[in-house]
Amino acid sequence: MSTSTCRCGAEWGGFRTSHCTACHQTFNSDAAGDKHRVGEHHLSAGPNRRRCRTEAEMLDLGMSRNDRGHWITKARIDSVVEGLAELLDEDGF
Ligand SMILES: [Zn+2]
Ligand SMILES: [Zn+2]
Repeated sequence: MSTSTCRCGAEWGGFRTSHCTACHQTFNSDAAGDKHRVGEHHLSAGPNRRRCRTEAEMLDLGMSRNDRGHWITKARIDSVVEGLAELLDEDGF
């Protein structure tokens, strides 16, 4: 498995792990990385500019860190739970 590094000193490995070169947080998946960005893609200034969420904002969204300190999103887990609920419905529970 290859390991990537950043000038901030972060090291990470794995195919889906991503590191933000703007805020230097490491994300366990593309989904988590996407979730930490907010605003309009084409704006570089103003309240709706494209930027990274702060740590407090990520926590507010329900994101958390795994044991390696990588940010994870709970959204994927939620969708799995929803999928299971649908399966149970189909089975007549
Ligand atoms: Zn960032
Ligand atoms: Zn970095």
